[in-house]
Amino acid sequence: MNVLVTGGAGYIGSVCVEELINQGHSVVVIDNLQEGHREAVLFEAVLYEGDFGDKKLLKEIFEAYKIEAVIHFAAETTVEFSMTDPQKYFINNIVNGITLLEVMKDYGCKRFIFSSTAATFGEPEYTPIDESHIQKPINAYGESKLMFEKILDWHHIAYGLKFNAFRYFNAAGASAKLGEDHRHESHLIPIVLKTAYNVRLDKAVRGLKVFGRDYPTTDGTCVRDYIHVVDLARAHILALDNLNSHPNSKYNMGNGKGFSVLQVIEISKKVTGVDVPYEFAEKRPGDPAILVASSDKFRKETGWSPLYPDLEIIVKTAWEWHSKYPDGY
Ligand code: UDP
Repeated sequence: MNVLVTGGAGYIGSVCVEELINQGHSVVVIDNLQEGHREAVLFEAVLYEGDFGDKKLLKEIFEAYKIEAVIHFAAETTVEFSMTDPQKYFINNIVNGITLLEVMKDYGCKRFIFSSTAATFGEPEYTPIDESHIQKPINAYGESKLMFEKILDWHHIAYGLKFNAFRYFNAAGASAKLGEDHRHESHLIPIVLKTAYNVRLDKAVRGLKVFGRDYPTTDGTCVRDYIHVVDLARAHILALDNLNSHPNSKYNMGNGKGFSVLQVIEISKKVTGVDVPYEFAEKRPGDPAILVASSDKFRKETGWSPLYPDLEIIVKTAWEWHSKYPDGY
């Protein structure tokens, strides 16, 4: 299949491109390289550097390639910044997304896989969170993604768009070639591993900050559900076929098991051999205590199951990548 991947130079997008290529698909990537890296796009894919909301560029791509499906990763994604500059999130995640859907409609492309987020749920009322859980986002990032999920519903009803939306919980880990390299790193596992790497080099390191110690969890730190990036990527490719039997479905994607921040630090110690220094700090605004997904719906409907459900393996793959590319791409 000819697949257009927006944000295909980013963390999850680039691994998805790798899986698509491994499975014999032809891939065109559009990425403005604001967060993504040119080096993360495998040479077998065609890379267009630009905005996915640029109608002229999109038309050029749709004219040049017979695009049969779009996997849409590109977005503004940092919760913290979404609270100080929400307009940017609404413009990129909604307005530009509508332009993309419009061009798809003009060219008769009806297959769409969307990167949504656990942040569409807000403060959980129960865990694990399944698809029937109420969606009440507590930040503008989650709100923008939820709005776009609703836009997809209407495109399905009115124009016959077939879509699957994935609410990611915490993507982590790496493939052999591709890993996590954000320009502004805010995620726990890469921060822990960077700290471990620097401790090993005897660099003077500042301990990592553990945000909050009195959450209602077993050890007082936040609990998250970590899913291997390759398992997520595989899910997107399964979804391309799943569109035929489930043309308007939304799925929560995680491993169904939660780990606290302190447990992640402990597992990282086992993997790296480094006792990572940390200190407790203020809670981070907008962090729910526990976020664990039920992915039963996607498992049942597609037969998907994670190849790497074990957090130690997930951290190990991230560590191997980080040790190979300590300065990122
Ligand atoms: N976290 C932390 N210190 C850090 C980064 C993250 O204690 O330097 C915590 C954060 O508060 C959350 C968990 O680790 O409870 C996972 O955070 P991350 O940013 O990786 O993912 P999120 O769950 O926010 O999507």
